[in-house]
Amino acid sequence: MINSKVENHPVDLDRHTLQLFDATPVPMFCSSVTGDLEKINPALIQFLGFQQDEIHLPDFMIYHQDKFKLDKTTLDSLNADSSFPVVIETKYEHSSGAILSAQLTVVPQLNNSGEIIRYISQIVTSAVENKKSDQLQLASLVYAKSSEGMMITDKDGVIVDVNSSFTKITGYLKEDVCGKNARILSSGQQDDLFYKLMWNRINTSGHWKGELWNRKKNGIVYPVIISINTDFDKQGKVNKRVALFSDLTDIKAKERQIFKQAYYDTITGLPNRALFIERLNHIINLTKSKENSIALMLLDLDGFKEVNDTLGHEAGDELLKLTAERLLLCVKENGDVARLGGDEFTIILHDIKLLENTVKNILKKLAQPYSLENEEIYITGSIGITLFPDDSDQVSGLLKSADQAMYAVKKQGRNGFSYFTHSMHQEALDRLSSINELREGIEKQQFILHYQPIVKLANNEISKAEALVRWLHPEKGIVSPDQFIPIAEETGLIIEIGRWVVNEALQQVYVWRETVKENFQLSINESPLQFKSDENSFNNWFAYLEKLDLPGESVSIEITENLLMDFSESVDMKMQKFKDANIQISLDDFGTGYASLSYLKRFDIEFLKIDKSYVQSMEQDKDVLILCESIIQMAHKLDIQVIAEGIETQQQLDILKSLDCDYGQGYLFSRPLPVDEFELLISGSFIGAHGTPYV
Ligand code: C2E
Ligand code: CA
Ligand code: CA
Repeated sequence: MINSKVENHPVDLDRHTLQLFDATPVPMFCSSVTGDLEKINPALIQFLGFQQDEIHLPDFMIYHQDKFKLDKTTLDSLNADSSFPVVIETKYEHSSGAILSAQLTVVPQLNNSGEIIRYISQIVTSAVENKKSDQLQLASLVYAKSSEGMMITDKDGVIVDVNSSFTKITGYLKEDVCGKNARILSSGQQDDLFYKLMWNRINTSGHWKGELWNRKKNGIVYPVIISINTDFDKQGKVNKRVALFSDLTDIKAKERQIFKQAYYDTITGLPNRALFIERLNHIINLTKSKENSIALMLLDLDGFKEVNDTLGHEAGDELLKLTAERLLLCVKENGDVARLGGDEFTIILHDIKLLENTVKNILKKLAQPYSLENEEIYITGSIGITLFPDDSDQVSGLLKSADQAMYAVKKQGRNGFSYFTHSMHQEALDRLSSINELREGIEKQQFILHYQPIVKLANNEISKAEALVRWLHPEKGIVSPDQFIPIAEETGLIIEIGRWVVNEALQQVYVWRETVKENFQLSINESPLQFKSDENSFNNWFAYLEKLDLPGESVSIEITENLLMDFSESVDMKMQKFKDANIQISLDDFGTGYASLSYLKRFDIEFLKIDKSYVQSMEQDKDVLILCESIIQMAHKLDIQVIAEGIETQQQLDILKSLDCDYGQGYLFSRPLPVDEFELLISGSFIGAHGTPYV
């Protein structure tokens, strides 16, 4: 557009004419006798879409120089008859690129001799045209300043102009792309059909709007939302096309992040419950039509809580992450793995032929050691399996049956898998009614305590007993704790039951210390859950002891080994409080849990109870005998007294005595008894194992 520099020549117009020339709102210019542009007025600058202060007049002369050159025909007709102005319909280009129609009137200026010394031209546009020009100015401003990328192409898609945002977004400068086909921007991510449909729409309606992937100058592919409009000429033919677009990279990234937060588990990166349900629903809908089966597995880690409690939450999180990795390795592309929450994972397996192998593989992989916090951790899994559509054709139904199957595995001792069966459904219903009955039992106080003597083996003395709870069920009669304690623990109802047991047992020991023996001691079983319950139910202990004015030694608390493995602060704190109150501690069921003798010193323990399974196989199994002997010796070295549980035969008793065991408990001495029978026993009316009365 820029040709050469011409001066805004100092033209020898008289002063008045010059004033008029500069002040008139009519665009005017002067030309030399050869028709070349000599001078333009401010109105013309404005007319062409520039600001006065934007342009130095002399420089401005270079603009459209050729456009303002008077052509030969005009000059000829003016030269032929200088008394007539020439009027021509003409067009000028606005700075925005728009074409302005105008009427040009050219008159010659004569000197005193009547010779033409220059031509003066004025441009007239209609009011409508003027308004258009204002709008164009506005449009050009929008075009230049918009944050949207803009691109103008000709009818063939060749780029004629772009704005600065275009450059910002695409990285292409104006000169990189002008004259090139707009295809230069495309990424090749959309197929031919996509473009075919797009052009179809543009050709029929003139516009199109949608999202697509383009490529930047630096090669990066990015998403845009783009709208394309067409400018038609008077004949209805395509004049230009204007494309407006915005970069969606940031918006898409945010969308992705929001999607990730809503649908993925942050610890393992696996789909979460919401996405799992969506996927399963989708698969069910797809599968319904094809009539083949899929399998849903529900996996619950065994002992995850212990890891969390002993090694801390970070280690727990790490374990979940490693588990997720192992599951993904086992399932590969044959299914979908998700984490439902806690230590529960689900696997949707698309091909049930692979089921048996996959399940076994998962259990094998899970059982391999995990190294966490410099320790080797072993963990197993319980897997419930349900089949679609055999067991249910609904997401909720499948989840329920997988859960029931998983529960069955837990009940059978964990580390395994089980298919859902309809009897499980019945069991689940039974379980639910048991929970309700148990709740009712608590409300109606249907519990009693039985007492089993703990006999001092050296002299047959009974100054200790274990309080064992029973449920007096209105229909079933006496229900053993093995049948309701597990449910009570799962549901948390154990807290209420435990509170009742403590109150009842303390009241009883108070009476017996008054009436039978002043040093009498009762052992009370505390489920690990009670150690983790809130302060209130825990403080119940001390409040009650104080109320009855009982010393701490009047009770002993029986805890299980697993509590020794729990390194949480609240357990430590509570154990310490018991010690401070002089309450003695017995380690129950020794040998059945995970703790080794090395853990014994963690808490200050007075008694260790050898589990009845050891006592009862001692006679047949030499190894067990040796084990019992070393347990007793080790305990004594640690200043801990040993109670043998479940003594049923004289032979067992004799062996234990020979091993220097301190106390014995079992049917050989007495079953757990109701209060009145127990009182008869310790009052001496019962005859002991040796034919001698208990003392
Ligand atoms: P445990 O603490 O190991 O209690 C000893 C169990 O062994 C009692 O079963 C007792 O009746 C039984 N037993 C005693 N001598 C013999 C014997 O010579 N041979 C055989 N085969 N068994 C014998 P019980 O009363 O059915 O209690 C079962 C379990 O329920 C208890 O095991 C204890 O873990 C739990 N439990 C009982 N009462 C309570 C309680 O008040 N609170 C809590 N948290 N748990 C309790
Ligand atoms: Ca016990
Ligand atoms: Ca026991």
